[in-house]
Amino acid sequence: MQNKLKILFLIFLCFSFALLAGCGKISHDISTKRANFKSDYLNLESFCKRYGLAYQYNTVDDIIKLYSKTTKADLLISSSIGVIDGNFFSLKRPILQKNGKIFIPEQFQTIFQAKSYKSQPFFQIKTVMVDPGHGGKDPGAISRSGLKEKTINLIVSKILKKELEQKGFKVYLTRETDTYLSLKERVELAKKYRCDLFISIHANANNSLRVKGIEVYYLRSNELDSLRRAKKLSKLNYFIDNKSHPGAETILWDLNLTKNYQLSVLTSNSLYFTFHKLDFDVKAPREANFYVLRNAYVPAVLFEMGYLTNQDEERFLRNSYYQKQIAQTIVLALNSLNKKLD
Ligand SMILES: [Zn+2]
Repeated sequence: MQNKLKILFLIFLCFSFALLAGCGKISHDISTKRANFKSDYLNLESFCKRYGLAYQYNTVDDIIKLYSKTTKADLLISSSIGVIDGNFFSLKRPILQKNGKIFIPEQFQTIFQAKSYKSQPFFQIKTVMVDPGHGGKDPGAISRSGLKEKTINLIVSKILKKELEQKGFKVYLTRETDTYLSLKERVELAKKYRCDLFISIHANANNSLRVKGIEVYYLRSNELDSLRRAKKLSKLNYFIDNKSHPGAETILWDLNLTKNYQLSVLTSNSLYFTFHKLDFDVKAPREANFYVLRNAYVPAVLFEMGYLTNQDEERFLRNSYYQKQIAQTIVLALNSLNKKLD
């Protein structure tokens, strides 16, 4: 029945065009155009059916997400730029939306077929930048007994690096000694080494000595979809040098930021659930607008190990066994996330 309606609608459209055009010659041009459109484009729905893909279309940011067990792709309406399994690609023609249906260029099929044999998932954390918060002239929080946050951050970060490396992660530290680094320098490092995740390690402080618990933060979402930010970042020309697509860098950054946001949220949730499962006093992940999260170029989370102002937690944090437990639980969380994303 639906097909019949479609055919009727098409006949009606052809008829209207012919009427509007008023002469056979132009109507012939239109049919040629339609033939091209047919051969150069595929209907998204039939494409997904053919390859066993599920798709999600977010009408707010115009991003179409395609999923299968082996492949994930992000497409942007009216854009010829997309991401497949973490790799950006550029098509000769843009993704189109017509009469509420989405059409993808034929060329995408070739890219999709070639990539779907790759066993590289879209989201996988392999390289991690561990950032021991504060350092040098900046001590961070200080406990009543004089324990400095910068010291505990560095100790746990170093343990975390070792533990992650044992599980096969490639790990960098933003600092290995008691040195001062600006926030900008820290996030630049994550970019330089093209890390899959930036995790900043901190310990908290509060006026109330009773406040305690582990906290996990990721970037506040309203900071995310601002095209202005994407434009700003795109000027840094980090990903591509392709000048033939005006605004391509901006679109890439936009897609990249969306990807970063998703992985930041997933990482935060995995950290929360893993710590919660192991009976740590941990609060549900929260959004924040910290500089390191906002400007990290890569997925980023900020991990607060506990409150130095709380006597119990300060005692825990001084304990080398507890420090190792924290590090090992972070590794567990990242590992289980990778498994889920595999
Ligand atoms: Zn701190």
